[in-house]
Amino acid sequence: MSSASESPDKATATNPLKHPNSRIAVLTSHFTATMSSEKDAALAAAAAPPPADSPTIFDKIINKEIPAKVVYEDDKVFAFRDIAPQAPTHILLIPKIKDGLTGLSQAEERHCEILGQLLYAAKLVAKQEGLEDGFRVVINDGPDGCQSVYHLHLHLLGGRQMNWPPG
Ligand code: 5GP
Repeated sequence: MSSASESPDKATATNPLKHPNSRIAVLTSHFTATMSSEKDAALAAAAAPPPADSPTIFDKIINKEIPAKVVYEDDKVFAFRDIAPQAPTHILLIPKIKDGLTGLSQAEERHCEILGQLLYAAKLVAKQEGLEDGFRVVINDGPDGCQSVYHLHLHLLGGRQMNWPPG
């Protein structure tokens, strides 16, 4: 049986993938670190929820107070590259006007139009990004959904094979 303290040689002898220099070991440790920091960010956001319509980092991006790599904009939707991409293509699509949509769970009937526009914009951006072989659209909601920014947003992910189920 292996343990965290066993030497690399012994670990490698029983399972080559455990060698610290193995590509999978490196990828796995990076993946785990990224996932836990995202989860931490989501839990921190949930622990101190801001008032529904208080500005978030995304408002600063829309207002160009902080820079972002913008890939698409129309009168209602704004899309830019995620600062911590989880795939070769990772784009966030947000409504320019939040109108109470801190997350999908806050949607009301009046939001149906913008929700549809966000999805359609995701399709346009996927085409623009050359994601002909497919892509994934994700909406994280609330602490269990690992949401960290409380301004509704779609994640558009592509450029690699996705796995199912998601983590
Ligand atoms: P959530 O976890 O709420 O579903 O997604 C929030 C996303 O916003 C994360 O993927 C995170 O990397 C991204 N993000 C947070 N701050 C910034 C920022 O300042 N700029 C950009 N481009 N993305 C950000």
